[in-house]
Amino acid sequence: MDIIETIDGHALRHPDKLAHIWRENTLTYAQLSQWSDRLANYITQKFCGDRSPVIVYGHKQNEMLVSFLGCVKAGHAYIPISSSLPTDRISAIVESSKSKLMICIDDISSDLIDNEVLDCKALSDIFNCGCELPPDKSHRVKEDDVYYIIYTSGSTGKPKGVQITLQNLHSFIKWAHTLGNLPSRKDHVFLNTAPFSFDLSVMDLYLSLYTGSTLFSTDEKMIADIRGLFAFLNKSNATVCVCTPSFADMCLADRSFHNGLLPSLQCFLFCGETLMNKTAEELQIRFPNAQVVNLYGPTEATVSVTAVTIDHDVCTHISPLPVGISKSDCEILIMDSVGQPVQEGEHGEIVIAGDSVSIGYYGNTEMTNKCFFNWHGRRAYRTGDEGYLKGPMLYYCGRLDFQIKLNGYRIEIEDIENNIRRLDGVANATVVPSVVGGKITHLVAFVIPCDMDIDRTLKGTIAFKQKLKAFLPEYMIPRKIVFMDRFPTNTNGKIDRKALAREVK
Ligand code: AMP
Repeated sequence: MDIIETIDGHALRHPDKLAHIWRENTLTYAQLSQWSDRLANYITQKFCGDRSPVIVYGHKQNEMLVSFLGCVKAGHAYIPISSSLPTDRISAIVESSKSKLMICIDDISSDLIDNEVLDCKALSDIFNCGCELPPDKSHRVKEDDVYYIIYTSGSTGKPKGVQITLQNLHSFIKWAHTLGNLPSRKDHVFLNTAPFSFDLSVMDLYLSLYTGSTLFSTDEKMIADIRGLFAFLNKSNATVCVCTPSFADMCLADRSFHNGLLPSLQCFLFCGETLMNKTAEELQIRFPNAQVVNLYGPTEATVSVTAVTIDHDVCTHISPLPVGISKSDCEILIMDSVGQPVQEGEHGEIVIAGDSVSIGYYGNTEMTNKCFFNWHGRRAYRTGDEGYLKGPMLYYCGRLDFQIKLNGYRIEIEDIENNIRRLDGVANATVVPSVVGGKITHLVAFVIPCDMDIDRTLKGTIAFKQKLKAFLPEYMIPRKIVFMDRFPTNTNGKIDRKALAREVK
């Protein structure tokens, strides 16, 4: 099995089949295959011998998919960056990537460009160059080469790049395309709800392209307007919905989210955060023909490594819900604080070993050595998640550190704190999640200003949040800012986060 060959094979057999739909824009398999060939030729000629990763900057445009494929056909890993990120964040990724080429499908600030750029016009010229020569297959990304790099929130305040090889991706697809009732039909329509810069999107993008199906993309603007979103969904003919539980909860809050809206839907694939029993129950009532599958895994282990179908029986008898059984080429270990496996049923850190595990963080040996290790000859990753096993079934119990999930987004609390500390006039900052019914609803930042006369009114906090937007994406900005003169401390003299958490209740 080879993902690139498979996609090109679909283009030969079904050239006019739609590979992607986003708003009014469509992309056929023939266009995807031919245009990515032409882009690969261009990249190979221009960057002969160089294998540095290529940044692909945009949102849900067809050119994103073509660029991903064009890069790997030319032997370069790609780094998807969402155009909704603030300049400072993009700059940190560009700097860390050492990339020599940026494909900018959306407009980008000229401050960020210090190397070759292909904009939409240049891409269009390449796609329409008329060249029929297929790119040399020997240049392609090979099994052990990095296929993509996805940047996630890093506790230092700088994002870290997770490197996923072609072998990691193959291992994921081979397993994931057998989940739920996916194999029963070939002509699926996969609903995409996450930006391409988040690894959840790898599930819908590559399952769709691998099976010769159609990817139907939503975008951030659509999602912000639920009625508009539903109108799009209704036209999608979606058979598989890949989303976070937060996305489903947002949709379920509206009564019109039921099988009348998505009559062809057969399967929900959930990953990224805790799936609550009440969410699964409600989906079973409103979508009686659709299976609900709960998957678990971090970006560092290629999207997900465990899965379980949540049927009515599981939903009514087990709470919290299990997160699944491991794919066969991986092993789930539960380890104690000194890295020794614990007995079945005991709690500990979830460690993943096997073919899904990344080779490490790009250009960051220190973090790679901290989180990745060799377990009996297999790559292993310490997730920082707490869990336990009951037989082969994994249960997730939360985090052992300050990483959280808010509306499906992975966030290191320390990433926000470090960026608040970068603002002028801030002496210190602590961020605490507000939790309602076991789910994080928003973040509260407690800030000690250098100047006690800081404007603490609503106007002052709005201005404060505005300044923070220069460093952090919208989803990481705390909803509430509380200025204080000093933080409460515990008996060890450390900031008492529990006391602060009580204040946000
Ligand atoms: P990401 O790298 O963005 O996919 O985030 C990975 C983290 O999301 C994991 O380490 C878990 O903390 C959390 N996560 C992923 N899947 C699940 C799940 N099914 N249930 C609960 N938490 C999950």
